[in-house]
Amino acid sequence: MLILKGKAQKKRKTKNEYKARWIVVRVKITLACTDCKQRNYNMTKDKKTHPDRMETKKYCKFCKSHTLHKETK
Ligand SMILES: [Zn+2]
Repeated sequence: MLILKGKAQKKRKTKNEYKARWIVVRVKITLACTDCKQRNYNMTKDKKTHPDRMETKKYCKFCKSHTLHKETK
């Protein structure tokens, strides 16, 4: 007589709870005044929200007024 032993493999359902890791790609950029070319601001930006070069109006202490600042390397 053949006794077929059913392999009692208890498959444990592992709960893989992956916590959503929000990978934010932040890069250091320098903002330079477009008028006097002075590098006034060092900051980080999110590459996801700003894939292109940033342009923001900021106060330039050399021009003593708000000028357009562009991202430089
Ligand atoms: Zn300036």
